[in-house]
Amino acid sequence: MAESTSRAQDHPQRSPCSLAEPKIQVPTGVIDTHAHLTSDPLPERLEDVLDAARRAGVRGILSVGIDATTSLHCVQLAQRYAMVRAAVGIHPNDCCRATDSDWDTIERLTGSAGVVAVGETGLDRYWDDCPWDIQVESFRRHIDLSSRTGLPLVIHTRDCAEETLEVLASAAAGDRLYGVMHSYTGPWEVAAGCLELGLYIGFAGMLTFKNAATLREVARQVPLDRVLVETDAPYLTPHPLRGQRPNHPALVVHTLACLADIHGLSIEEMAARTTHNAEALFGSWPPS
Ligand SMILES: [Zn+2]
Repeated sequence: MAESTSRAQDHPQRSPCSLAEPKIQVPTGVIDTHAHLTSDPLPERLEDVLDAARRAGVRGILSVGIDATTSLHCVQLAQRYAMVRAAVGIHPNDCCRATDSDWDTIERLTGSAGVVAVGETGLDRYWDDCPWDIQVESFRRHIDLSSRTGLPLVIHTRDCAEETLEVLASAAAGDRLYGVMHSYTGPWEVAAGCLELGLYIGFAGMLTFKNAATLREVARQVPLDRVLVETDAPYLTPHPLRGQRPNHPALVVHTLACLADIHGLSIEEMAARTTHNAEALFGSWPPS
C-alpha cells in the first residue's frame, strides 16, 4: 500500500489512481450534487480527492450510498468532512439483495447528522440486475421514506424514463415531490413531467460529450432555478478529460462550464445558480 502510494506521487500520470486536474477553476464555489466517494478507487485517495475539489472551487459534495454499507460509510464521511453531505438508500441494481436489516439501517440513518437526502433510488432497465417488480417496490418505499422524513429524493433512471415518471406521478398523487433526477439523459417530455412534479434535473459528464447534442437541447430547456450539476464520480469523466479515470468531484467544473455555455451565462453565474439550487434542495453547506 505504502509503496504504491509513493509510486503514485513520483509518476502521477502513470498511476491508475492518479487524479486528472481540471482545466478550469470556479472561484465562486460549486457543489457536486452526486458523487460516490465510497466507490473504488476514491476511498484510498480521499484526502487528495477533497483537496483537488477545493482547489477547483468545489465547496460541497453530496456523497450517495447505493446500499446499507455504502450509505453508512457516506454518513461517516459527512460527519468527518464539513464539505461532505450524505444520501442514504439502496440503488435499483442492488435492491433485490437488500435484507430487512439493510432497510432498518437506511431508515435509522435518515435521522443521522449529515444526511440530507434519500437515495439513490429509481429504476434501471439497462442493467436489469434486479427483477422489475422488486425495483418498483423499492422505489416506492424510498418515495414513502422521503415523504415521511422530509428528505429529498435522489433518483436514478436508465432506459426507462417514462416508467420512472409514471411511478413518481402516481406516488405524488397530486402533491409536490422534492428531489432530483440525477445524471439525467432522458427525453425532454419526461424532464418536463418531472419539473411539473417539483423535481430538479441534475446533469453529469455526459452533457459534455460530443455526441450529446440532444441532451444539451434538453438542458437548454430546463429552467435555471431547477438545474443541478454533478459528477457521478468515479464514473462518467467529462470532456475534455473523458476516458481518464477516476472521475472525481473537482471535474464537475467542466460540466458546469458546458451548462453555462448552453445557457449563455458565465461560469461564475452558473455556479451561483446551481449552488443556490443545490442548497435550496439539500440545505446549506458551510462557506468555503
Ligand atoms: Zn450514482
